[in-house]
Amino acid sequence: MDPYNRLLARKQELEQMTGALRERLMTPLAETTDELSLYDQHPADIGSEVYEREKDNGILELIELELEKVNDALHKYKQGRYGVCEVCGQTIEPGRLNRMVNTTLCAGCAQQRQDSFRRPAEEDVLIAGDMSDRGETFQVAGYEYFESGDGSSSG
Ligand SMILES: [Zn+2]
Repeated sequence: MDPYNRLLARKQELEQMTGALRERLMTPLAETTDELSLYDQHPADIGSEVYEREKDNGILELIELELEKVNDALHKYKQGRYGVCEVCGQTIEPGRLNRMVNTTLCAGCAQQRQDSFRRPAEEDVLIAGDMSDRGETFQVAGYEYFESGDGSSSG
């Protein structure tokens, strides 16, 4: 499968994930806990259900972030800029693109960014909720993101 079709497949996959999560988040708590009345619930059960929802919300945000990146990569592909490192302008290693179809950094530049932090091997990172509130690179679904560390967040 060529990268364009892989990106499209990934996009479809992510859209399905967001759809399923949204559906779950829109379901009233009483239904998801299989109880007619929340009054019968042990407080701990409601608490864990609320916790699950917050987790779902967080995952949804991460997936939407990756979806954005996939769309960006699709856009680049159409412009003939897909697979070009956005830092050094070199061609990104085919094996690397094969692992992370929407990466925008070559191995060297990604390594440089990662040198200042300790992170597990990028291939091993799935959506792990490993978002950091400190400014640093973090990874979502095997894809690197960078947050500015000067506190002037735009989002
Ligand atoms: Zn590079």
